[in-house]
Amino acid sequence: MNISFDLDSTLIPKGKEFETEKRNGIAKLLGIEEIRKGTAELISDLQGEGHKVHIYTTSFRTKGKIRWTLKYYGIKVNRIVNQTENQKVLKSRKINSSKFPPAFDFELHIDDLKGVGIESERFNFKAIIIEPIDKNWIEKIKKGIQKTFELRILKRLLKELWLQSDNCTEPIESMWFSIQEVAKSTGNTRKEIRKYLYLLVDNNYLELKSEEPLLFEFTEKGKKIKTDLEIEKIIKNVG
Ligand SMILES: [Mg+2]
Repeated sequence: MNISFDLDSTLIPKGKEFETEKRNGIAKLLGIEEIRKGTAELISDLQGEGHKVHIYTTSFRTKGKIRWTLKYYGIKVNRIVNQTENQKVLKSRKINSSKFPPAFDFELHIDDLKGVGIESERFNFKAIIIEPIDKNWIEKIKKGIQKTFELRILKRLLKELWLQSDNCTEPIESMWFSIQEVAKSTGNTRKEIRKYLYLLVDNNYLELKSEEPLLFEFTEKGKKIKTDLEIEKIIKNVG
């Protein structure tokens, strides 16, 4: 998944709001900024799980300066979007939000500002809001990523099933083909996707109509699922 991090008060302190990694005197002289304790390990963990990590900030720091600071702590990120680029892109797309991660293909954004959380609901993007004083910030991020990841697979699977069932009106004939399609497009194994199929069956959203030939059908309960919020509930009710 493409995950973006805010900088100020999320990874870089504005004052003394969180503990920071060690930085030597030379680094200070070279303009290396302080960074939240645990950042390097968190980012490397996420990258190890196959996620791409990006920086998305509304600060005007240059990309070079940001890369320079991150490099000092052994952090390598994919893309950096600063306010210069952010303003340009959002203006050209006429988006009236301080941040809009989908404009940069970021699928989940991590930020300290409640305002960004409000924007995420209004503009329909995924965000995790972390308070600067939150000691369990890493755990909260990891849990949030897991949830978003699951939601993304389930959404993609449902979209495929809606298509194959002509919007819940016909039985689904090509379940294994659908699973393969979802696996391909989300970069997961078929085994992983099958778990979500069983989740839908076990919770009575989908039922096996016949084994020979293999046919599935949406139940009355399943036909009602339409919005992200309803899809989220499927996962919540299980977890
Ligand atoms: Mg911030």
